[in-house]
Amino acid sequence: MVTLNSPEIAQATLLRWKRDGQVSFVPTMGSLHEGHLRLIRLAKSVADRVVVSIFVNPLQFGPTEDLAQYPRPFEGDRALLEKEKVDLLFAPKETDLYPKGFQTRVRVGELARHLCGASRPGHFEGVATVCLKLFEITRADIAVFGEKDFQQLRIIRQLVADLNLPVSILSHTIVREEDGLALSSRNRYLTPCERSDAARLFESLTTAKAQATDRSVTAGRLLETMHRNLHETFDIDYKSICSESTLVPVAPHCRVGDITQPRLFVAAKIGQTRLIDNIAL
Ligand code: AMP
Repeated sequence: MVTLNSPEIAQATLLRWKRDGQVSFVPTMGSLHEGHLRLIRLAKSVADRVVVSIFVNPLQFGPTEDLAQYPRPFEGDRALLEKEKVDLLFAPKETDLYPKGFQTRVRVGELARHLCGASRPGHFEGVATVCLKLFEITRADIAVFGEKDFQQLRIIRQLVADLNLPVSILSHTIVREEDGLALSSRNRYLTPCERSDAARLFESLTTAKAQATDRSVTAGRLLETMHRNLHETFDIDYKSICSESTLVPVAPHCRVGDITQPRLFVAAKIGQTRLIDNIAL
């Protein structure tokens, strides 16, 4: 595996590789877990060479968020990627991607208005900006994103369509622990007690999904049940039901059967740790 931090050298290397076949790409912030590895295996299965980036992108963190504490076990990550037979690890430093004088941003529209976009102002602008840069540097034919960050995935698909980027976006379903908790680098912050309570988040999603087999049930009803199931353990940031295409929360009186591709989204804090999850209804 080649490890590079220079955007110019990475771009030149990949332009050369692309003459011999397809390149797929998995962007990450490191602190890799099985969820990332599944995305990488999918990426490997669809192209001749696979590139993974590790970059904790300061542009997508708010001033009160966990940028400084975000785990960065770089050598362990690198060993995992070697084992997966990744071809290139792109691990730029902050100044490699944002040198002095950097001033251009991608502005995201309506899709960033709700859910995490509402509670994390500027987050998706940071995500879209770094992804556009990474797509340009890697020149990847295919990029793989997880449904765990469903709003991000939807925004990246829009970015690619709106800006005519020559990359195909593939998605991977959410990879979970045995008790249902979605794998996340942030799970490392949980105390043992919080970790065991955290499984209730997914339980509340599966309960809602079961309730929604009755297609006449309203969004309001589902969200009320969820609130009852979660409020004692979690500080709920949002819980919303949206159509996958617009990501605009539906009104409480909406019946699930009347929503096109309904999906339930939740973000909630347990102790100091913010968790997100979602499920198709
Ligand atoms: P991150 O390192 O958190 O920025 O995540 C990098 C990529 O891995 C993103 O596309 C995430 O959606 C994806 N990802 C993270 N955790 C999971 C998971 N549990 N299941 C599926 N994809 C995931």
